[in-house]
Amino acid sequence: MAGITLEDMTQAGAYLEGHFRLSSGLHSPRYLQCALYLAEPARAEAAGRQLAARLKAQAVQAVVSPALGGVIIGHEVARALGVPFLFTERTEGAMALRRGFAVEPGWRVLVVEDVVTTGGSTREVMDLVRKQGGVVVGVGSIINRSGQENPFTPLPFSALLAVEVPTWPAEACPLCAAGQPVVKPGSRPGQA
Ligand SMILES: [Zn+2]
Repeated sequence: MAGITLEDMTQAGAYLEGHFRLSSGLHSPRYLQCALYLAEPARAEAAGRQLAARLKAQAVQAVVSPALGGVIIGHEVARALGVPFLFTERTEGAMALRRGFAVEPGWRVLVVEDVVTTGGSTREVMDLVRKQGGVVVGVGSIINRSGQENPFTPLPFSALLAVEVPTWPAEACPLCAAGQPVVKPGSRPGQA
């Protein structure tokens, strides 16, 4: 399947190169914002169809995603697979299924994210699904920035685009050292 290219992300305004101060406070030469890519429903739908096609061999019975980031893409993957979609939320720090959502015992569950970085939140969702008696059969994401081909081995994992996003604390940032002005993503130099 075709996947998504950096050019697609750039055209959507969802990928920028320069010198950015991320919300974490770290500096980076790259900025990715999946929400901007998904802002166009047709793009979200197509991304969901592609991920679904790559993972449907897992005989998925439900898709579960962590809110907020995974909700739009998870819903689109579930739509393409014709299965229910549930999302998890953090309650007092712990990942939980609220709103009456429940994983049926034995369900074959696909966990879908927007971006996999360390895979930490994905693993929390996987643990929650297993605790409820579900069987995690795979993981899908739009972006893989883990630096690994599959951080969830032996489970199948598919991402539509692999991107490295280097980050540094300001004091170790080579772009600061080179005197390049830093901008907050979403604003342009000189903009309020
Ligand atoms: Zn910097």
